[in-house]
Amino acid sequence: MTIASTNPATGETLKTFPPDSDAVIEQKLEKAASAAKQWRRTSFAERAQRMSSAAAILEQRKDALGRLMTLEMGKLRKAALAEIEKCASGCRYYAENAERHLAPEAVQTDARRSEKRFQPLGPVLAVMPWNFPFWQVFRFAAPALMAGNVGLLKHASNVPQCALAIEEVFREAGFPEGCFQTLLIGGERVKKIVEDPRVAAATLTGSDGAGRSIATAAGAQLKKTVLELGGSDPFVVLPSADLDKAAQVAVTARVQNAGQSCIAAKRFIVHEKIAPEFEKRFVQGMRALKIGDPQDDATDIGPLASKQVLEDVEKQVRGAREQGANLACGGRRVDRPGFFFEPTVVLEARGTKVWDEEVFGPVAAMVRARDLDQAIALANDTQFGLGSAAFTQDPKEIDRLVDELEAGQVFINGMVKSDPRLPFGGIKASGYGRELSKEGIREFTNTKTVWVG
Ligand code: NAP
Repeated sequence: MTIASTNPATGETLKTFPPDSDAVIEQKLEKAASAAKQWRRTSFAERAQRMSSAAAILEQRKDALGRLMTLEMGKLRKAALAEIEKCASGCRYYAENAERHLAPEAVQTDARRSEKRFQPLGPVLAVMPWNFPFWQVFRFAAPALMAGNVGLLKHASNVPQCALAIEEVFREAGFPEGCFQTLLIGGERVKKIVEDPRVAAATLTGSDGAGRSIATAAGAQLKKTVLELGGSDPFVVLPSADLDKAAQVAVTARVQNAGQSCIAAKRFIVHEKIAPEFEKRFVQGMRALKIGDPQDDATDIGPLASKQVLEDVEKQVRGAREQGANLACGGRRVDRPGFFFEPTVVLEARGTKVWDEEVFGPVAAMVRARDLDQAIALANDTQFGLGSAAFTQDPKEIDRLVDELEAGQVFINGMVKSDPRLPFGGIKASGYGRELSKEGIREFTNTKTVWVG
């Protein structure tokens, strides 16, 4: 695997990086093991002081850090700035709340004192994707470090400058040597690191294929994993919905990050009574999007992150057409340098590639439903179970949707998003375990039962 920064807006390779040798990896593992022994003894106050510094550094440097994302994976400049700000607020959330989330919990038993304690596990390997190159890492690192673990980051091979910049933020924030290190390696070298006895646990955010591979390696060593994998989130629209709002949110929910988000709405299920009206507004919204340079704040959709992503999306749309789906708009790559794809709406999409597979690009799969029962069945007609959204004003429908949608999160009258205060994660092929909130910080801890007679 080549580790390189390629600008997806032009196709030009900016810089390549030699991967870490085995000797360098050995040194990094040794440093992580030794840092873990010291770091677990630090107080929450000491950890919080450094985590707050990391937040301040992110804010001070947001232009430069955001620019790295735009250059390496094509994120819109304005979205990159918002992502850095979100990382800073994630750091502050855990700086302020880690101690509370991990406070010992007293339990009344026959003992003089009995309680639950939450102790760190040690070095945790984090394998991360390129689509939110800062947020995915901070979402793992802020709680993991605040809990007293140390982090080893294996970032996606196309965002090495982001990976190194994140390591630098933690170093400058005063985290001791070895507390957070970047490993410059390709995915094929992950298994050996998972197997290393110095690594206590692992997490992967990425495709279900990569998730299965790390889960197999970790399972053989009986090591804990948290997996945040792909999604094909449903977006259900029912007759009582505010159609203007629903159509507007649907466009944003599908095309944010050029459609490359695990929690993007990907399958649109619309009640047949309002389907013609909703489709008209949604297609209008998709057609109106401005494709262009991600550095330009007037742009709505930048490039896809790599040639491979572009080719995958093209293949899925071609497949859906061959399987009988109709296109209401889009369907082709854009005739300009770089990896741009038109906003696309696929009608009668059920049973085609864009329905059955996760599509990582600005492509919406649409179907009509005759009633709520069928809408729920269609929403659950997927191997994935990450997020889900529905638009309705009817309280009975809301209750049923909340109860019956098979997903880690359900958003009513709004688009799915992550928030440090709420747990985030999936079921089915979208993975297991949770990030964020109290649940997230407890994942990489040992819940120790204490009994004192
Ligand atoms: P990917 O190909 O699975 O890569 C993700 C990470 O896993 C990269 O660091 C990659 O390294 C590594 N990797 C790939 N194959 C591996 C293997 N066999 N063993 C160990 N590591 C391996 O995914 P992607 O294309 O970068 O990201 C898009 C996917 O991530 C989508 O499916 C998306 O839905 C999912 N995602 C999920 C969430 C969530 O929270 N649930 C959030 C964001 C993205 P290399 O780059 O070196 O190959």
